[in-house]
Amino acid sequence: MSEQELRRKLVALGKKAFEYGLLRGTWGNISARLNKDSMLITPSGFEKAALRPSDLLLMDLQGNVLRGRWKPSSEAPMHSLIYRAREDVKAVMHTHSYYATAMAVVGQEIPVLTSEFASAVGHRVPVTRYAVSGTWDLAEEVVRALGSGKAVLLRNHGVVAVGDSLEEAFQTALLVEDEARTFFLANSMGYAKPLGAEDVKELREAYLRNYGQEKRRLTLKL
Ligand code: 13P
Ligand code: ZN
Repeated sequence: MSEQELRRKLVALGKKAFEYGLLRGTWGNISARLNKDSMLITPSGFEKAALRPSDLLLMDLQGNVLRGRWKPSSEAPMHSLIYRAREDVKAVMHTHSYYATAMAVVGQEIPVLTSEFASAVGHRVPVTRYAVSGTWDLAEEVVRALGSGKAVLLRNHGVVAVGDSLEEAFQTALLVEDEARTFFLANSMGYAKPLGAEDVKELREAYLRNYGQEKRRLTLKL
């Protein structure tokens, strides 16, 4: 994909994430890998629904700005360290969505409760230890807790979701918020019973085999 097309998609995703209530005010940030050694990332302190493609920064994965007129997201260390640790990751989305953030404040991991979560994410979402936002310390802790997974909760802060595309990172961030809300609602009615490991495995395998269209698992309008 060309840099211009990736910039356009990232900006479109900022708008979509606002529409879905995942981002509010200037909080949260989004990045996309351009190639092995660089990423596009949102500028710091901007409302991500009102970005233009030219507002995005091109950065290397050591924390240096290669192109762009604004200051990069304060979480650039976290985004870049994830790309360094995970070659399969092409996009990273950080949100402060309500229910997931509430669970991050309590320090409660999100279990796999629903079939769609088992299918599209396929693992529980762990909580990091507390680390100050914007630091390389937080970046290292996120990479550790994420492992080979798709999402983590940042203690007393929010959510990080990763994907092999902007669409997948968004889908995961949305599912994490929905699963956290389901956890809260189900526990208010009774006991939120997680799916068993075998059921999760079966759903995940069927999803990877069958879900979506032949050439494209997720079709979002970006
Ligand atoms: P930025 O606006 O600097 O990306 O920061 C938002 C945020 O969520 C910090 O954790
Ligand atoms: Zn944040």
